[in-house]
Amino acid sequence: MAEKKSQSVAENNYVCIECGMPAKELYKDFNAGIIKISHCKYCGKVVDKYIEYDPVIISLDAALHKRQAYRHVLYNTNIQAHWRFAILFLFCDTYTKWVNWPGSHHSNQRQSERDFIFYAALEWSFYLMFMVSAVEFITFYVVMNGILKIWKIISQSKKDIRNIIKGVLLSNMGKFYV
Ligand SMILES: [Zn+2]
Repeated sequence: MAEKKSQSVAENNYVCIECGMPAKELYKDFNAGIIKISHCKYCGKVVDKYIEYDPVIISLDAALHKRQAYRHVLYNTNIQAHWRFAILFLFCDTYTKWVNWPGSHHSNQRQSERDFIFYAALEWSFYLMFMVSAVEFITFYVVMNGILKIWKIISQSKKDIRNIIKGVLLSNMGKFYV
């Protein structure tokens, strides 16, 4: 049974996840609880198969960089949780940096030598890595936003750059699995 999570997206604003062409609707609702999945008039495939999928499957497909999963999230849903994702990715990035930090590995010292100072340093290194990740993250998105704005002016494109930024943000899904 198709979920109605895409209901609030404006009509005729959907996109076929297979070919990227505009679509009028994701499914037809025949009132009596009968729902028929719509097919794309351009490629003949199901407009958005993900409306029936579990969010876990969708995020796995996004992590695998499947184009269809990105089209589903960016065009056919109304998810506004991108910044929550950003914070999650930031923590994933911090953790990856932190475990690879040379000082965070247990040395061959005896237990008695791994004292309080060692763990305090470990904790501080986490904060340091968080700051490094945050600076990297902010710099990347500020620069990308600037470049996209310049590109938009030069090319006189009507494309919504927020969608591009959201797409790049979601492409970090792999960090979660790292
Ligand atoms: Zn299509």
